[in-house]
Amino acid sequence: MDCIFCSIASPIYEDAYVIAFFDAYPVTTGHTLIVPRRHVPDYFSLNTEEKRAIDRAILALKRRFDQSLKPAGYNIGINNGKAAGQTVFHCHVHLIPRYVGDVSDPRGGVRGVIPSKQKY
Ligand code: AMP
Ligand code: ZN
Repeated sequence: MDCIFCSIASPIYEDAYVIAFFDAYPVTTGHTLIVPRRHVPDYFSLNTEEKRAIDRAILALKRRFDQSLKPAGYNIGINNGKAAGQTVFHCHVHLIPRYVGDVSDPRGGVRGVIPSKQKY
């Protein structure tokens, strides 16, 4: 199968169910993708073990980044479907460390998927 996330060579985290690696086009330093080893398109296709493993990965990577990168916050997000912005159709969770001042006004965060509605 021709899928970039099925052939990642250098994960920064892995277990029996998931791997994680740095995003090739990071929006901030440390922007990481967590993916199930199984090729499934979206969050809704994950099984319980994969969802638990993703949660463990998020927490382990957060602890690691808190020490190494010292961000001030995180966004966690999944684009499910082309209409929601998904471009790689192997399920992946974006873990995005956030730093004070990385944007001038961060209010609204993930509401920014609809830019005109980000701030309320
Ligand atoms: P999405 O739009 O949610 O499908 O996100 C796809 C993500 O994959 C984007 O943030 C890209 O920067 C990232 N990406 C694309 N190709 C690669 C690659 N070869 N290795 C790591 N990340 C990638
Ligand atoms: Zn895949």
